[in-house]
Amino acid sequence: MHDLVIRNALLLDGLGSQAMRGDLAVKNGKISELGKINGDADQTIDADGLALMPGIIDNHTHYDAQITWDPWLSPSPALGVTTAVIGNCGFTIAPCRPADRERVMRNLTQVEGMSLEALRAGIRWEFESVPQYLDMLERRGAALNVAAFAGHSSIRTYVMGEAATQRVATDDEIRSMKKIVQEALRAGAVGFSTSTSPAHNGDGGLPMPSRLADEKELRALVGCLGEAGRGVFMLTKGGHTPIASLEDLAADTGRPVVIAALLHNSTNPQTVFDDLLLIENANKRGRKLVGAVSCCPLSMDFTLHSPYVLEGLESWKPALPLKGEAFVEKMKDRNFRNDIRAELSRPAHFRLFNGEWDKLQVVESQRTIAELAAASGQDPLDAMLDLALEENLDTVFNALLLNSDEAAVGRMLQHPDSMVSLSDAGAHLTFFNDAGFGLHLLGHWVRELKIFSLPEGVRRLTSHPAQVFGIRNRGVLKPGNWADLLLFDPAKVGRGAKRRVFDLPGGQPRLTCDAVGVHGVWVNGRRPEEMPGRLLREFNA
Ligand SMILES: [Zn+2]
Repeated sequence: MHDLVIRNALLLDGLGSQAMRGDLAVKNGKISELGKINGDADQTIDADGLALMPGIIDNHTHYDAQITWDPWLSPSPALGVTTAVIGNCGFTIAPCRPADRERVMRNLTQVEGMSLEALRAGIRWEFESVPQYLDMLERRGAALNVAAFAGHSSIRTYVMGEAATQRVATDDEIRSMKKIVQEALRAGAVGFSTSTSPAHNGDGGLPMPSRLADEKELRALVGCLGEAGRGVFMLTKGGHTPIASLEDLAADTGRPVVIAALLHNSTNPQTVFDDLLLIENANKRGRKLVGAVSCCPLSMDFTLHSPYVLEGLESWKPALPLKGEAFVEKMKDRNFRNDIRAELSRPAHFRLFNGEWDKLQVVESQRTIAELAAASGQDPLDAMLDLALEENLDTVFNALLLNSDEAAVGRMLQHPDSMVSLSDAGAHLTFFNDAGFGLHLLGHWVRELKIFSLPEGVRRLTSHPAQVFGIRNRGVLKPGNWADLLLFDPAKVGRGAKRRVFDLPGGQPRLTCDAVGVHGVWVNGRRPEEMPGRLLREFNA
């Protein structure tokens, strides 16, 4: 007797093989048979020719905080995701001493755009160490399978306290950090994550702790992976972090390195391709480097209350620590505005916002700042800031920032050394929502633009990330593997329009989106609502 049989499906195995008509049977959470299936089942579903693929593995999420109050990890399961990797970029919530909780939450509010009220009301602090955090996740269960990174910034804060955002570490401190990474790996962390990105600022505009690490500290901590002979090193790099230095780390440790965030930037359109070529050449020398790319245009909703889009600018720095009236005064300041204009007119290696005023929209009127400025004869920056000041900073802007050149993004997605990634699910909840990236890949890039065949598009979302992270017995439809499944209509699949809901702790807002063309999602053979997810602690990578 089977637990579940799905009949008459177009089976996509996740390995890129040609699709096959057939049935799939599930027993005890695992795929028991594929092909023509006989015998009875507790539940039988007629797929009527719909496609059945392994569930999507979302390898770049920030659900570390949300999972403690929302084990359903909304909205990812409805969007076809069955496994989420959390703790990317080093922004975890464990380890954390009680005295540092406020500091960690304030940093997350700044760097990942999470509401401070929601974090304060929502996070369940039933842990201090990484192993305790993982035990808590396992005990409480979740809708999805979860793999967790040990995150550099939290580890640094745990060891150095306030100094974590101020200086390099001493040898003693590095030794203490190493112990925590080793302990996390023993407890089942999927690897070690960090960020050197200048876009990553914490509370009061100070750099996130990992950005203060020197070469010696980074080598020591990534070295823990080498010594343990397991784990992925993940980093979100700044322009000043050369791929060559990451290749050195990969060579010294023998560990795979996931390099984020390779987003196409129209001011320096060649940069990401240069990075991908360096990654490709390193791999020819036997390294295991992979470039994390996104299949979504990066656009962000924001107000001047929390202008993440502008906060990476050097010239914005003086405004970062300011609040209330002092902030308003700074927005009016001629010199401040002139400094921003001067910076935007200079070339840069990487910049989130590049003064493309025709891509910056006022959400309510749907008019661009370029149009408004032309109509009023104003300079665009003045037009934007004056409008926001008139509306008590409440004006909602939308900026189309990066990854909007589809020809270029298509080439990045097709690159053999890239990995589809960067949903940032769980973060930036009022700015954007790319949790439906997998459905977008299948609908937009596969069906509409045909940059991949359907089997190859599916492989990019399933067995490929499973192999990079060493996720065992998932990402491929085959007997013996866990029954993580997504049933969908290839003719309709996609992600719906973003919409704003107010369901975070404290009634705080977030953006969400609905699935289109999804007919069923199973995690370990069960519906996500039943909380069938497992905490993954053992990996092949
Ligand atoms: Zn991230």
